[in-house]
Amino acid sequence: MAFELPKLNYAYDALEPHIDARTMEIHHSKHHNGYTNNLNAAIAGTDLENSSIETILGNLDMSNKAVRNNGGGYYNHSLFWNVMNPEGKEALSGDLKDAILAAYGTFEDFKTTFSKAAATQFGSGWAWLCVHKGGKVEVCSTPNQDNPLMSGVSCGGTPILGLDVWEHAYYLNYQNRRPDYIEAFFNVINWSEVEKRFIASK
Ligand code: MN
Repeated sequence: MAFELPKLNYAYDALEPHIDARTMEIHHSKHHNGYTNNLNAAIAGTDLENSSIETILGNLDMSNKAVRNNGGGYYNHSLFWNVMNPEGKEALSGDLKDAILAAYGTFEDFKTTFSKAAATQFGSGWAWLCVHKGGKVEVCSTPNQDNPLMSGVSCGGTPILGLDVWEHAYYLNYQNRRPDYIEAFFNVINWSEVEKRFIASK
């Protein structure tokens, strides 16, 4: 069964002014759609065709560039849309808050660590918050469309929050000001969704 481009739970302009409608539209309907189509083409007729994306990425031969890049792109963007929410200005709470404070001390220190990972990822890539079995959380970043489900990347566990720092994610509105885009992202994080993923994966 072919993978499908997931629908957004909100309108393209719903994240303004933090993320503009034009960027969202191009990012979802062109970039994510392209990864989806290219993933389907790459797995057509192979034994990956009936696997979940998590299974495909978790068992990936990293020399398979087509599946690595497009499967990563498919999964990463699917997560990204879901961890943002126009009503995202909610306080972090519950078990996830406890885990973040256990790892980073304060929310501000976590935010600094995550923002630094996103800002210093050279070129294109992603910043992640991951959870390991047992509930320990960890921030890391990966290049291109790699992600922590893949073996041999900088951190493991399950990604529960991801930030796209490819220029296509922010350049129309922020040009070279990646740090401003990262700051804006913190205004639209859907913490209740991130916590749901934390509880399901820990
Ligand atoms: Mn992207």
